[in-house]
Amino acid sequence: MKFENNYAFAKAQDEKDPLSSFRNRFYIPVDSDNNELIYLCGNSLGCQPKSVASYIEQELNDWADLGVEGHFDAENPWMPYHEKLAKPMADIVGAKPSEVVIMNTLTTNLHLMMVSFYNPTPDRHKIIIESDAFPSDKYAVESQIRQRGYDPSDSLLLWQPRAGEELCRLEDLEALVNEHGDSVALLLIGNTNYYSGQFYPVKEITALGHKNGSKVGFDLAHGVGNIMPDLHDNGPDFAVWCTYKYLNSGPGSLGGCFVHERHHKDKNIQRFTGWWGQNKDTRFNMRKGFDPIPTAEGWQLSNPPILSMAAVRASLDIFAEAGMKNIRAKSEKLTGYLEFLINDLNNDDIKIITPSDPKQRGCQLSIQVKNADRSLHDKLTKAGVISDWREPDVIRVAPAPLYNSYEDVFEMVERLKKILKYN
Ligand SMILES: *Cc1c(COP(=O)(O)O)cnc(C)c1O
Repeated sequence: MKFENNYAFAKAQDEKDPLSSFRNRFYIPVDSDNNELIYLCGNSLGCQPKSVASYIEQELNDWADLGVEGHFDAENPWMPYHEKLAKPMADIVGAKPSEVVIMNTLTTNLHLMMVSFYNPTPDRHKIIIESDAFPSDKYAVESQIRQRGYDPSDSLLLWQPRAGEELCRLEDLEALVNEHGDSVALLLIGNTNYYSGQFYPVKEITALGHKNGSKVGFDLAHGVGNIMPDLHDNGPDFAVWCTYKYLNSGPGSLGGCFVHERHHKDKNIQRFTGWWGQNKDTRFNMRKGFDPIPTAEGWQLSNPPILSMAAVRASLDIFAEAGMKNIRAKSEKLTGYLEFLINDLNNDDIKIITPSDPKQRGCQLSIQVKNADRSLHDKLTKAGVISDWREPDVIRVAPAPLYNSYEDVFEMVERLKKILKYN
């Protein structure tokens, strides 16, 4: 597609955009004069769907009117409430509904998955993560290693970009796996990388790990609702994610979890258990031994928070309506347009770290500005552009295809241009 650097072009793209009406389904944050901001921070917290309030209100009303009977008699009975979310969630990550469950929060799910899929032995105890892993993931992995009696200085391996480079190369992961061979128990990769915006190939990484006899898991915090990981076909053992970034379900909302179906009936698998993972026929017969539900639901611990889940449901309904394929198609164009405009600044101090191949990235671009400091980000904020800043010199902007427009992207670069000129 041929892009043009002018407002009329951006506006014409919005008019042609089959998803443009979805912007009206969201509250776009505003400044103190009630003007809409250019909100490019959906990688951190997605905008609120306008429908969320009525979804939550339904549950509040049923709780008020029905009390405990709401578990069975609510408009959307609470007992099986989470089951209704499995299909729309599975469609977003490319899984079977039985492989997906919404529960807990991301880091908790990561721990639960490592209890099941990280089983270190003296011969095989190492975990590979990408070197710029999100801090919470690194803390979780280190604590799991220690908890099992190993030492992160022996057992934690980092997949790193080469000196002078920003992105991780697949061939370097392959070399690391080959070098450590049988001692690698688990590959745990944050996908898409929250810093660089790089999307790693799920299929190749999974095949690489499995060929080596290692388990493979992905943290899709920045991937879910953004890229299409095709989890079932690509076959990783597990994946975890949150729903408040691209899935717009509200601050600190629930996490999601994928367990590949090949593990569902394995009775020997280690796990932490709770009553909500117990076979539904005998769940209330509390004296029986634990008999896990033979789906991803078998990893649930507690009965879930319905109010939070109502917000997830509101969001997933929007995704189902728009369709992940359409969302992704717009995203590639929208981010392509942002890339074109940034490159058209012809500014040698500006470099996009994120891969230029759309298959290797989601909607986020990480823009490195030489000699910049946080004040650049503060000026952008003052100019009505909500982005986020990573020390020492990177602005991350993520045009979210459901509510961002070509006009947003055009305006963002115009404002950046002004700021740089008067810097
Ligand atoms: C956002 C994010 C988290 C946050 O974890 P919570 O448990 O939801 O607080 C963790 N890991 C990654 C990679 C993230 O992007």
